[in-house]
Amino acid sequence: MKEPLGTTGLILNEPLLWEKGKKGRCGYSLPRRDVEPCPLDQELTGEGPDFPDLSEVDVVRHYTRLSQWNFGVDTGMYPLGSCTMKYSPKTNERQASLLGFTGAHPLLPARLCQGALKMMFEFEQYLTEITGMDATTLQPAAGAHGELCGMLLIHAFHKKKGSQRSKIIVPDTAHGTNPASAALCGYRPVPVRSNEQGILSAEAVAEVMDEDTAGIMVTNPNTLGLFEEDIQEIAEIVHSKGGLVYCDGANVNAVMGIVQMGKIGIDVMQLNLHKTFSTPHGGGGPGSGPVCVKNEFEPFLPVPRVVEENGRYILSENYPESVGKVAAFHGSFGVMIKAYSYICSMGPKNLKKASQLAVLNANYIKERLKGTLHLAYDRPCMHECVFSDKDQLAHKVKTLDMAKRLMDYGFHPPTVYFPLVVHGAIMVEPTETESKEDIDQFIEALKAIVKEAGEDPDLLHDAPKSCKVKRLDEVAAARKPCLAG
Ligand SMILES: *Cc1c(COP(=O)(O)O)cnc(C)c1O
Repeated sequence: MKEPLGTTGLILNEPLLWEKGKKGRCGYSLPRRDVEPCPLDQELTGEGPDFPDLSEVDVVRHYTRLSQWNFGVDTGMYPLGSCTMKYSPKTNERQASLLGFTGAHPLLPARLCQGALKMMFEFEQYLTEITGMDATTLQPAAGAHGELCGMLLIHAFHKKKGSQRSKIIVPDTAHGTNPASAALCGYRPVPVRSNEQGILSAEAVAEVMDEDTAGIMVTNPNTLGLFEEDIQEIAEIVHSKGGLVYCDGANVNAVMGIVQMGKIGIDVMQLNLHKTFSTPHGGGGPGSGPVCVKNEFEPFLPVPRVVEENGRYILSENYPESVGKVAAFHGSFGVMIKAYSYICSMGPKNLKKASQLAVLNANYIKERLKGTLHLAYDRPCMHECVFSDKDQLAHKVKTLDMAKRLMDYGFHPPTVYFPLVVHGAIMVEPTETESKEDIDQFIEALKAIVKEAGEDPDLLHDAPKSCKVKRLDEVAAARKPCLAG
């Protein structure tokens, strides 16, 4: 095995700026005043805020040091399952920072921002084509927000038909946001269990589907990284009782250019641009969760919508059945540019290849590690695979211990203890952007950790050993948070 990446070295401690400050230090000299002094408003005079006095070098070093404590996908492999922490090419950031885009005010009249509107118009069409649906709104600002928007569309559809329904079916392999979004829209989520294969069976859906059920929310591929193979049959059952099929498409990274969601019975779905389409994410955003729909739902899409009229683009509010606005202005515009740029630079062939490689990489990890870690469902996976700590429990080594130890080997831990259907889950999503060399190193690290679990379990109980911050007491951190630093 190659030398582990290592996490020690010149990582410096850093106090708070308040502890660092010294009266009279100054980071920036203002030019000499050339106007008469004028007193500030009454409220602003008196004691100013307690800001520390700091020199420029104090401030630059402070933030640079803090930034070196972070781990991100630009630092190394970040195999978080379900989150698609793939590398986002920097060229897309560059396009998003073009002055014409960054300087455009959202209240500009349409005639002064034709380029921005054209980009949005074309981008909607690209997403519609990629998903195989009929129309798209770009407004929602995140995946869960897209789900809520989709639920509102489904609600509006039933309302127009005069049939108010009260329930939504949500399988146990759905993302946690699904039942929350359904509930926020006033629906009662009805759980349904996946089968031994880790997918939904048509029979299980038929059992709970009735005429008071507005539809089903299916995460596909699901959170076990498995494709819902019986989705067409399930959609037929739901449709036959007047219900609708919502697809949580956050995992579309596995199926771009391969599955046409519109053709397998999906009525409404969201995409997570910040996962699949080149926007670095985490730390609270910004994200973007466009919603793609079949024709019957188009009248309900949020307004304003970008419309083409004689070669010009306008923003139209003229959709009387619309659910209204779901975000300020047009949604996360900067994210749209990155995603648009990503799609243009990849083209249809490479988008499909990206999905194929994402699936290949996950299956490679699954095959190479399945004799080392217990594999929850031993069948071909999509973009992620789920292991568990079942075989290590005899040594009293748990998923958490192995995840923490991975940091000593220079890898961000994968998603752990999710999905809930697998006890002690370790969910790995390598993504298409990791090289075989890096994936091999990750595999070797996990093999070494599993060996350590058998030989010296205490080593794992105390991990991480070489990180700046050692094992945290997560219960105390939640119960008695220290917010001062
Ligand atoms: C990430 C994710 C979501 C939630 O998306 P946010 O942008 O974090 O709101 C929903 N469903 C699935 C399957 C996801 O992976």
